[in-house]
Amino acid sequence: MLNFLSHFKPIVPCLFPALLGLVGCLAHRSPAKTQTQEAASTVSRAHAHSTSRLSANAQNIAEERDALYTLLAYALVYKDWQTLDTKQGARGHNIGCVLVNPKGQIVHVALNSNGKYKNGTQHGETRVMWQYQEREKLYDLKGYTIYTTLEPCAMCSGMMVMQKVSRTVYGQTDLDFGKAVERLQLKSAQFPPYPRAKELSSTPADHPVRISIDQAYKLKYDSSKIAITEWLRSEEAKALYAEAQTQLLSNAVLYEENRAVLADCLKSLKRFEP
Ligand SMILES: [Zn+2]
Repeated sequence: MLNFLSHFKPIVPCLFPALLGLVGCLAHRSPAKTQTQEAASTVSRAHAHSTSRLSANAQNIAEERDALYTLLAYALVYKDWQTLDTKQGARGHNIGCVLVNPKGQIVHVALNSNGKYKNGTQHGETRVMWQYQEREKLYDLKGYTIYTTLEPCAMCSGMMVMQKVSRTVYGQTDLDFGKAVERLQLKSAQFPPYPRAKELSSTPADHPVRISIDQAYKLKYDSSKIAITEWLRSEEAKALYAEAQTQLLSNAVLYEENRAVLADCLKSLKRFEP
């Protein structure tokens, strides 16, 4: 999407004068229009022009920001890559999360730690939420975004909904346990959507690494029904996570506005000690 938009961007300013010219011609054909109406219309067109350019740019900046946080989530997991199963002594599954506050700052990160605590509730998402809220004495997470390497399960989606998280962006689609947020949003003949569920947006990361991961896992899943947590210990998965780390470390942002975001990501990765 970023590539597509960066190709499209130079066309937008060219199209707008043409469209405005067309609108202007049509306006001249209307004899009933007074000078005041003309002036108001010109101001309104100029405003629409600048707003459209701003929103297109803001969208590109937001997409790059999402890409950086997603790469950070992969890189955190790669930094403490686990090759064993949780029952064989691994810290946990190769899944991790980044919590970003409404100002766009990284406030906490966490990895799945089911094995370390011998407790299946220690998912990256649950840990990133309760650890941060306990530290900050914060009752809920309204306006926060969770970037997670794997699509949230029912437990984590439920906790996000209850804690009023606004957005989650995931780095891999979970073919068995995914779409939990969407299921909470479903309306049936008997039941309305779960309260607050509609306020949580859940989307796959719009990033080439996520697409590669999804394609690689789907092939294995279709041929052998391999569990996602088992595939996430494979050399194939590790290589894709290594690629994500490289992309973050060698990143040169397209938008100046994201320079601080990249610095924040690199600092978080460096100081992260699992
Ligand atoms: Zn979960």
